[in-house]
Amino acid sequence: MPNEDRLTTGDLTYLRRESLQTVLLCLAVALYVWGLVLFRPINVPDLTAWSTVLLAVGLTIGFVFKQRNLTLAAVATIASIASAIFLHMWLLDARDAPYLLAVVVGLTGLMFGMKTVMVVTVLCDALIISTGTLRWGYSPLSSELVSPALLIGAVGILSSLAVRNLYLTLDWALDRTMEAQRNQDELRERRAELVRTLKALDVAYQRLEYLNYDLARAREAAEEARLAKQQFVARVSHELRTPLNVVIALSETLYLSPERYGAGPLPSAFREDIREIYRSSKHLLQLINDVLDMSQIEARRMRIELHPVALQDVIAEAVEMIRPLVREKEVALVVQVPADLPPICVDRNRVQQVLLNLLNNARRFTERGSITVRATLKAEEIQVTVADTGVGIPPAEIASIFKEFHQLDSTVPHQDGSGLGLAISKRFIEMHGGRIWAESDGVPGRGSRFHFTLPLVGVELAESSDLPAPRPPLRSPTGRGRTLLILDHDPTVVQMLEQGLEEYRVVPVGNVTDVPRLLEQAHARAVLLNSVRRGRVGRQMQELRRVLGQSSLPIILCPLVGERQMGESMGVVDYLVKPITRDALTALLHRFGDSVRRVLVVDDD
Ligand code: ADP
Repeated sequence: MPNEDRLTTGDLTYLRRESLQTVLLCLAVALYVWGLVLFRPINVPDLTAWSTVLLAVGLTIGFVFKQRNLTLAAVATIASIASAIFLHMWLLDARDAPYLLAVVVGLTGLMFGMKTVMVVTVLCDALIISTGTLRWGYSPLSSELVSPALLIGAVGILSSLAVRNLYLTLDWALDRTMEAQRNQDELRERRAELVRTLKALDVAYQRLEYLNYDLARAREAAEEARLAKQQFVARVSHELRTPLNVVIALSETLYLSPERYGAGPLPSAFREDIREIYRSSKHLLQLINDVLDMSQIEARRMRIELHPVALQDVIAEAVEMIRPLVREKEVALVVQVPADLPPICVDRNRVQQVLLNLLNNARRFTERGSITVRATLKAEEIQVTVADTGVGIPPAEIASIFKEFHQLDSTVPHQDGSGLGLAISKRFIEMHGGRIWAESDGVPGRGSRFHFTLPLVGVELAESSDLPAPRPPLRSPTGRGRTLLILDHDPTVVQMLEQGLEEYRVVPVGNVTDVPRLLEQAHARAVLLNSVRRGRVGRQMQELRRVLGQSSLPIILCPLVGERQMGESMGVVDYLVKPITRDALTALLHRFGDSVRRVLVVDDD
């Protein structure tokens, strides 16, 4: 059912007022015409004039109150029409007039609701029946009364239905309007929310930009600080090493050959002190070297040079170097390495450094029992283990001993370490694509086991060329993507190029005939020709063109003088880097066999 109360305001009132206006105008025209007829000089005014007066009164009230009180205006108009008709029926005996009551019912439908129409219909029918019976003497069921009564009833029903439909339609329209209104409100709210979100986004974006800027500046500062630290470490190490080397050399000579100073045998306490000076200086030098190594690894400037190596030889050498140091203790040095280990592609010096560090630690922390070095061949790697029967490491500490400068409280009395040995070893092993880890239950006497692995990959390649063995990209020391081949295997030249071309991996090639194969394996972008001698360049060019055939690979001439070339041009077989230690000199001379007995030193000092 339509809700009439909801519809009596606003638009409905407006519509009704408009309708009443039209009705009033029509009534005015009708009255004017009626008045003309009625007051023509030949007509004598009769009782019909009263109905004109009644209509005029209703019309006037209608016009006057139409704006202020619509209900009063409508009631007055309808009542004046009904009264005029009733006057005609009762006083003038107009027996067709009942039909005119249809106008009253219709108007009521136009101006009021369904219930009012029904009430007015019943009243009109009652008026017809009562006038017909009382005034005209008809029977209540006579056709003269039933016909108009039925007609009025029918008009009443139709009018009610029309009113009902009107209300329903209006109700629906109102519902739709209200819904549209709600949607519009919601839309407005959403739009406002969107605007707020956009503003917040703007602010966040701006903040992000500031943060990015700060971050870039912080990164720049960090990079500057890193460079400054690196330079500082390099400079300080250099400055420290030179005088330290003098201290080591002199204390060594003082201890080993005191007769050179013309003195007799020195008192043993004096010799012990000199030995302590020598030992402490060596320790200090080791510490400086470790710090320098670490800073170079961090700066990614540490290069490893991979060559096929028999690991059993590297292990044997390291064990022999340690053997004199364990002789004083009740510690057995056991080596369990199969003789038929396949060659492995590693940087011999770095792997030996790791082994020496592990063996030296085992020696320092083991007073009795044994130190065992074991090597096991696995599917894709060789695993090396250094096990001791020393003090062991508490399990909770195992993860942190590979961190820089980490030393265990329990081992503090052994004050000859730097806390860097294991951290450097870890980096070296990882640069080879291997892993290093420790095991111990922390029980003194049961000791600890240090294991590291070295992958077997790339041995075949390295055996036949100078291409560094492929390593897992994450563990690559440089993280470089594109590759260049260089017809030179001087490490200094390769290092110089890699420092200059940060995004490139530079692969040294010893032989021109290896170029096509390495090109394919390393996906190289160009071949660099490094030669300072013109005739040699021409020859190399010719050979290169021949082996490359139709390939459009760029060949770039790049004459760089490396240490090897410099040495070659000066006619020397090798060189030593200052400060020169006794060990380094001995090792170098050892390379030339026992034939070297006397050495001529050319120096102005
Ligand atoms: P350091 O130069 O102090 O030995 P490392 O990095 O080589 O530095 O070792 C870090 C610490 O790990 C050592 O100080 C020691 O506390 C512990 N450690 C290393 N190897 C052993 C071992 N074989 N037995 C017991 N503790 C060890």
